[in-house]
Amino acid sequence: MARAPFVIAGTEVKPGTRATVEIPVAKLYTHTPLHLPVEIIHGRRDGPVLMVCAAIHGDEINGVEIIRRVLRNSALRHLRGTLVAVPIVNIFGFIQRTRYLPDRRDLNRCFPGSESGSLGGRIAYLLRTQVMEHVTHIIDLHTGAINRFNLPQIRAELKNADTERMAEAFGAPIILNASLRDGSLRAYADSLDIPVITFEGGEALRFDDVVISSGVKGVVRVMRALDMIPVKKGPKAPRKRSETAAMSSWVRADIDGIMRPVARLGQRVNKGQKLAMLADPFGEVETAVVSPFSGIVICVNNLPLVNEGEAIYHVARFDELGEAEKAMDYFRSSYESELGEEVVPVHPWDEMQR
Ligand SMILES: [Zn+2]
Repeated sequence: MARAPFVIAGTEVKPGTRATVEIPVAKLYTHTPLHLPVEIIHGRRDGPVLMVCAAIHGDEINGVEIIRRVLRNSALRHLRGTLVAVPIVNIFGFIQRTRYLPDRRDLNRCFPGSESGSLGGRIAYLLRTQVMEHVTHIIDLHTGAINRFNLPQIRAELKNADTERMAEAFGAPIILNASLRDGSLRAYADSLDIPVITFEGGEALRFDDVVISSGVKGVVRVMRALDMIPVKKGPKAPRKRSETAAMSSWVRADIDGIMRPVARLGQRVNKGQKLAMLADPFGEVETAVVSPFSGIVICVNNLPLVNEGEAIYHVARFDELGEAEKAMDYFRSSYESELGEEVVPVHPWDEMQR
């Protein structure tokens, strides 16, 4: 029996075809209508229905490019199941180059939303009723906040075995077992029992080739693990791709001042090792910020002007740090060609070039 068409916002997408559907969201003050663009690739054969979405925080744009590249993957010709791509969830924030909505709300705290609520609630309601409630798996793509650069990492509630399988399949070097936040897309998906992982990589308003490339590979690997696209022939990855952190902690500035970073992204640090120096403009007051435990640096603050209490380094701790180092080594070796072309001297990947 032929597969039924995929119906979204009143549009039917036949099996073996792809379509872009523009779901009406709201209007600007000018009464110009805004749409949520969604691309659907509806395979001929039954299988999982995977939603991949990005820019729920409007300035986190690496995911938009990840989705663009995934949609060009030739393996999609043999798709089993359905891929639903939503590259720009927070269309208002994306236009304004900001994380938030025009009323300064965080769309990722507005789920499940409501039809008659404020703008955030309405967009959340639209996404969940038109898309989320019709899918079986979700990958949500994010970056660090502005001036904060995240090492590619997966955040997921690992008590769900299907979620854990997706997290492992993605192949980012670090996995964080992250608890759910009220009102987030991830929490809502979890309440529907939909396995969901969040990818974090790079920083807001910037493209980073290593991050984008690892995100594209990750989405494709999850699709392979879900049997949506054929498994690549040839030898299996012999080395360790991911290690799950036992916990992670932000290290904060202990004085107001100007920061000189010492530790780099992805670097292994020991307990008490210097992460950065903080000083006043004349260097009369100077203190070292040190790591509270041994671990791997998974986020760095790239803005050197900091206030006391500000989060400047995110360090992950592992039960077996050696395994995390192996995952980092494998990650570095996988992206050597991209890193070799890097010329920006203070780029967070510097450590990886040595
Ligand atoms: Zn985000």
